[in-house]
Amino acid sequence: MFEQTTLKTRAKVELIDITSQIKDIVNKSGIENGIVQINVPHTTAAVTINENADPSVKDDIIMELNKIIPFNDNYKHLEGNSAAHLKSSIVGGNETVIIDNGNLILGRWQGIIFCEFDGPRRRKVDIKFVKG
Ligand code: ZN
Repeated sequence: MFEQTTLKTRAKVELIDITSQIKDIVNKSGIENGIVQINVPHTTAAVTINENADPSVKDDIIMELNKIIPFNDNYKHLEGNSAAHLKSSIVGGNETVIIDNGNLILGRWQGIIFCEFDGPRRRKVDIKFVKG
């Protein structure tokens, strides 16, 4: 099984909690046990698992990524979005979560977070299930 969902980002750099969307897709799939692979098919976006309870964690991640990877730094890529490409590679484009008895196995404070680095745009998230 393979699913695709979309989301609309609203800022140039934005972290969005997509845990509930992924849970809904897992519930609709009917899969009780296995893994779900979440893949972001973009070169200027990413996905990570981190705290979703306190939204300021997302702000801190954005603040520090913006310091580590400045928007302008004599990049060679002419499209002007090299910082977004670098952030995408550093954070990574996929995550895997265990499904047990129909539930996503995440830590108490963890959420699945879509990372926009060159928005606002309409984005895709691919979801693949493996039973087991
Ligand atoms: Zn580019």
